Amino acid sequence: MKFARSRKAFRRALQGIPGGVNSPVRSFRAVGGDPPFIREGRGGYLFDIDGNRYIDYVGSWGPLILGHAPRAVTSAVAAALRRGSTFGAPIPDEVRLAELIRSALPSIERIRLVSSGTEACMSALRVARAFTKRDGLIKFEGCYHGHADPFLVKAGSGAATLGTPNSPGVPRAAARQTVVLPYNDSDAFRGTLRKRWREIAAVIVEPVAGNMGVVPPAAGFLETLRRETRRTGTLLIFDEVITGFRVAYGGAQTVLGIEPDLTTLGKIIGGGLPMGAYGGRRDAMSLVAPEGPVYQAGTLSGNPLAVAAGIAQLRALRSDPGLYRRLEKQAFALDEGIRAAARGASTPVRVNRFGSLLTVFFQPGPVTDWASAARSDTDRFGRFFRDMLRRGIYLPPSQYEAWFISAAHTAALIERTVRAARGAFHELMRRGT
Ligand SMILES: *Cc1c(COP(=O)(O)O)cnc(C)c1O
Repeated sequence: MKFARSRKAFRRALQGIPGGVNSPVRSFRAVGGDPPFIREGRGGYLFDIDGNRYIDYVGSWGPLILGHAPRAVTSAVAAALRRGSTFGAPIPDEVRLAELIRSALPSIERIRLVSSGTEACMSALRVARAFTKRDGLIKFEGCYHGHADPFLVKAGSGAATLGTPNSPGVPRAAARQTVVLPYNDSDAFRGTLRKRWREIAAVIVEPVAGNMGVVPPAAGFLETLRRETRRTGTLLIFDEVITGFRVAYGGAQTVLGIEPDLTTLGKIIGGGLPMGAYGGRRDAMSLVAPEGPVYQAGTLSGNPLAVAAGIAQLRALRSDPGLYRRLEKQAFALDEGIRAAARGASTPVRVNRFGSLLTVFFQPGPVTDWASAARSDTDRFGRFFRDMLRRGIYLPPSQYEAWFISAAHTAALIERTVRAARGAFHELMRRGT
């Protein structure tokens, strides 16, 4: 494989853009090497500017559940574009998309469209704070809710103390409003909420965690969150930016049978264009301006191209009743194939999977929270990643991310991926690394 053009493009990018990228994980810093620059995506494939072809498991980090450039979506966007890209005034498609989402997730009585998952999460938190007249937030270690101040917080020293910023630039005063607890630890959560509920406006959680690698919820964990928040008048926010329309058409809340008060969405609902949404209980969402006093606005919110893409993608998902079963089948085949390949090469890995989300952790033990995920051998993952890239498989360039399987990942592509993984595992073993 040649990478000369990508190298040149990256050197140029580094001169004017921090790290050469517009979002950190794209830089390959966690795995080593330089990122290929992409020319085109088609179905399950990415093509870079040097002419290399990859089977893609990033899928733009979640939106592309139908694969790259699905006809239904590209033609809807092209048609919308001819009518103009933005008006700053209401259009019928915004209402259609809102109705499509609400009919899929019954807990969403009212919804507001925004332009990113970050915006959705910060806005949902503002509504929860206004509704409860409390300021505090509980989040879980290893979950990601975008880059707004209240979420860029790590646990302070000692159990359930005040949070501290995990990025410079986040004021300590903002971080102190956030309590960070271990994912899947029902007892820690119950203890903390029972003691401190008077100051806690909301609990936000990824119902299936995808941002420390895939970590499914332990039995009873989400049920405990639901029961305890209800008891204390705290709002439960499910961040379904990844899981919405991914683990099922109705998201994790439908599969797991738990109704949050508020839900945040993004990724799939935008069909590959910038889009987010937050919504939920009528009484809480009625506080949003102009109906209520909670301010939230956006020049490009409900953008015509983005809603056209979202509607087209959701309709394609809804009109194909076998789609989620096929995704499950292909993801299961990948899961089984990778495990067998690792066993064959005596490489200790742990595969976590929930539907079409999967992570191969480079460690033998169970991964149930951030502490256990962090035991992974990230150097070894980096070597595996670089070898897979050379074999034409484009994985997320970090140990702590989900692999996204799309409807375009046919049995043949999965088989080629497993074969590549077998080669890469054997190479690790041969080199004694
Ligand atoms: C991606 C993501 C976000 C942030 O969405 P952006 O569109 O990148 O701002 C929030 N929550 C979760 C769970 C995500 O995976």
